[in-house]
Amino acid sequence: MNTPLKKEYSNLGFDPDQLREKYRAERDKRMRDDGDEQFLRTRDDYARYADEDPFVDEPDERGPVEREVDVAVIGGGFSGIMAAARLKERGVEDVMLIESGADFGGTWYWNRYPGSQCDIESYCYLPLLEELGYMPKEKYSYAPEIFEHCQRIGEYYGLYELSLFQTRVTELRWSEAESRWRISTHRDDHIRARFVIQAAGTANVPKLPGIEGIHDYQGHSFHTCRWDYDYTGGDQSGGLTKLSDKRVAMIGTGCTSIQAVPFVGEHARELFVFQRTPSSVDARGNMPTDEEWYRSLKPGWQRARRENFADIVVGRPFEEDLVADGWTDIFRRLQSVLPPEGAVEGDPEELAFAAEVEDFRKMNEIRSRVDKSVKDPAAREALKPWYRQFCKRPTFNDEYLATFNRPNVHLVDVSERKGVDRITEKGVVANGVEYEVDCIIYATGFEMTSAPHRRVNFDVYGRDGKSLFGHWDQGLRTMHGLSSHGFPNWFFIGVNQNGLSVNMTAMFDDQARHVAYIIDEVGKRGSQVAEVTPEAETEWVAEIRRLSFANREFFEACTPGYYNNEGQLDGPNKGLVAQAYSPGINAFNALLAEWREQGEMEGLELR
Ligand code: NDP
Repeated sequence: MNTPLKKEYSNLGFDPDQLREKYRAERDKRMRDDGDEQFLRTRDDYARYADEDPFVDEPDERGPVEREVDVAVIGGGFSGIMAAARLKERGVEDVMLIESGADFGGTWYWNRYPGSQCDIESYCYLPLLEELGYMPKEKYSYAPEIFEHCQRIGEYYGLYELSLFQTRVTELRWSEAESRWRISTHRDDHIRARFVIQAAGTANVPKLPGIEGIHDYQGHSFHTCRWDYDYTGGDQSGGLTKLSDKRVAMIGTGCTSIQAVPFVGEHARELFVFQRTPSSVDARGNMPTDEEWYRSLKPGWQRARRENFADIVVGRPFEEDLVADGWTDIFRRLQSVLPPEGAVEGDPEELAFAAEVEDFRKMNEIRSRVDKSVKDPAAREALKPWYRQFCKRPTFNDEYLATFNRPNVHLVDVSERKGVDRITEKGVVANGVEYEVDCIIYATGFEMTSAPHRRVNFDVYGRDGKSLFGHWDQGLRTMHGLSSHGFPNWFFIGVNQNGLSVNMTAMFDDQARHVAYIIDEVGKRGSQVAEVTPEAETEWVAEIRRLSFANREFFEACTPGYYNNEGQLDGPNKGLVAQAYSPGINAFNALLAEWREQGEMEGLELR
């Protein structure tokens, strides 16, 4: 068969088999038997990097609180404040947020490393822009503006007076006799709540590599999610002048590192960047918002824009690419070479090949950006990523690659030994060489998709004292990713068995709307309790499993990372994508909308 597609791909200028083989070899080089277990995981291990809050001048000395509320929301990041906002819009007023930081913001409260910025377009990422009448300053917002926006939402919905800050939940326990959740905190608070929404975040537990000797180091060290400006000087916009006499090691080269390295490289006496897998670094091309354009947008524009973006990044057909950036690029190209709809029907292999070719083209461009930007031949080769673009979260930055042209900045490729060898009292050993440094900065990410008990610092005990983590020990078990059997009036907002989006705030907002609907309906229907039936839970898990086969092959071929559970797709924890509702967020929202329209509260037992 000689379809239009075959013709299009007859003269590629590169050999797909050769590239596939190269990708496989680079992946195999990095595969570790210990997979996700390579990261330290006890609370004590990371406590020294994450327990202190360097951003608060004085601890709040309040005494224990005893209170009863209608809804307690655990977490004051975007997922928590969206849940509270959507509840208040429905007239559910008695809502309390419990947050470990001293303000709202979650990841944007804690992650204040220099250069921190959101890689998703601000017009899609910042929620409630229409409701609050706010115009983002730029196409891609920097962290301070995002943090301010969280505060703006808090003010607008009157959430501050309802919240307990600097408070960590230590346990949630359901009392069947009272039909209430009992919430304990590290400040001996006793809160009773009819409903609990667990919105504790996705990037809230820092991940440290289980590198031998990590606790032996005698110099200064911190994780990027608690940037120590007392040590480095400067602030989020740079000026890290106290590093001028310091030798610094940065471990990790994911999204965080790509944004922070240019600032550290500018000021440190010497910077050693330890890289296991290079990120794909595309152009950022930020620009100020065109006010005239922004003011011309019609009501409903933000939802439409988010949906357009989400459709494109799951590969659905689209008429116009509104965001038109590095996230949508491959799909825009793919759509432009596809024959009219229907012509390739029945030939999924050919479609898959077309998608792979566009990916190769994209990644060839990413690799040629490295060629153009980096002078040193060894660094240049090491900085080239050999995997498909969405195997890891892509990054976008205009300064990172050129930072390796500075004489004080050194790239240390640790791929051959699957990571740095060990940490000593004086520094980092890699490839058998000890690098003595004054400071180690861990840019090693978060427990985003690891086993559930590693992602939350407390357990949840439902009916009959059943542990949530026990319930989930053979894998997640939920209906719609939002609630589980045995855990009445308990809801989860975050990354779970639901429609994911790289634009996380859209996902949180949609989940928040749905949970707010359920809580409101339970009251309206004169009930006290809503609980998922075992049948509904089993059905949803089966549906997730059935659909997950769609992308298994793709993630199996990927270099290890948190998207594919460090390359281990079997076993209870399968990584981010294998547990999600693979048709994507728009399809998931349509499914939830239909569920609400039917009005049966199907799968929930009300009593
Ligand atoms: P990542 O998990 O993406 O990166 C961790 C890094 O640490 C990787 O480069 C990893 O290498 C490296 N690493 C781990 N163990 C070792 C080891 N033993 N030796 C050497 N290197 C090691 O963390 P980030 O903080 O960069 O990003 C986490 C997530 O936070 C992102 O994926 C994104 O979702 C979010 N984020 C979003 C931003 C945004 O713009 N919206 C900005 C920043 C973060 P390897 O890849 O080989 O495993």
